[in-house]
Amino acid sequence: MPGSSACTAACLSPRTCDVSGCGLAWSSIPGEVVIRRVAVAVVAAVSIAVGVAGGATAWTAAERREALGLREAAQARVERALVAVHEDSAARIAATTTSHVAGAQGLQTGARAALAAAVAQGRLTVEESAGRVGEDETPRVTLAARLDAAEAAAASASPTVARRLTAEVGEAEQAVHAAVAAEQERVAAAEQAAARQAARAAAPAARPRAAASAASGSSTGTDRCATTYGGPAFYTSAPTEGGDGSNGRLPASALSAVSWARDSRGTPFYLRSDATAALERLNVAFRAALGHDLALDLTYRDYDTQVAMRAALGSVAAVPGTSSHGTGLALDVPELPCAYGWDSPARAWLVANGPAYGWVSPTWARQNGSNPEYWHYEYRG
Ligand SMILES: [Zn+2]
Repeated sequence: MPGSSACTAACLSPRTCDVSGCGLAWSSIPGEVVIRRVAVAVVAAVSIAVGVAGGATAWTAAERREALGLREAAQARVERALVAVHEDSAARIAATTTSHVAGAQGLQTGARAALAAAVAQGRLTVEESAGRVGEDETPRVTLAARLDAAEAAAASASPTVARRLTAEVGEAEQAVHAAVAAEQERVAAAEQAAARQAARAAAPAARPRAAASAASGSSTGTDRCATTYGGPAFYTSAPTEGGDGSNGRLPASALSAVSWARDSRGTPFYLRSDATAALERLNVAFRAALGHDLALDLTYRDYDTQVAMRAALGSVAAVPGTSSHGTGLALDVPELPCAYGWDSPARAWLVANGPAYGWVSPTWARQNGSNPEYWHYEYRG
């Protein structure tokens, strides 16, 4: 047993004595330090008592056994306390480490899952914005590039990197949404301007039509129920032979004709097949409510018609390839204010019930929208 004699009396086993002989090589666990100090004090007190007593009187064998027993009992309590402190500390360290590891893993999994979701959403946006951002494709190209970069880094990205990539993808996606909205506004405004310009240009020709239907109108000759359209006639289009599926170039395989109507030239009204199927269901309900089929004026418009419109009307006509009619997902009912106008029962029914069939009056086409068109509806699925 190492150490000075003063300490030797307090050191009851090699475990509690270090080179200084007093068991003072304290571990870093505070609880153990306290208990070791208590242990030294308790055992020293017992030992001193035994020593003093031993020096003063002659101990009986029974007294010595009792004193040694006390000392051993004290030491045993110290040992048990030390074991308990060790176990408690180990448990606390293990729990802390586990929770740190679990926390870090959770953080990483969460960040990567958010990135994966952002990438999936971004891909959808790239797909859905095709042909809808106008002539400047920069926002879509930027988004596609960020998606590629995010996807390449996704598997090994740290939470910080994953969050940065997620934010970058989100930012690029917002730019695409903004470009689509701006283009929608621009096209709608251009269509409206084209219609107005055409109405002015064709005013003499339009007048007789209004007059003809004004038989029951007012004596001034302006019939409140006469068509609000005075421009040159545009007709719905047949499927595009050999069409590649892009805006205004939809092949027959992508389109279906509605069953109950044709335009004035006998051309069936084509829409993308899912939109037609939904419109068929809508028309059944419409007929039940209004007592007649939904009237149609124009559905699918092909690229060549849009080019002709642009050639005839100049920059006020939508850029070919950007019209919502070119996707087979838009329809116009006749521009007859009494039959389909803002306050008509047909419009009220369509606005209220159309969405149940995926057909909506877009916000921009509403009466208080950026380009009011009571006749225009779009299929949103
Ligand atoms: Zn329209």
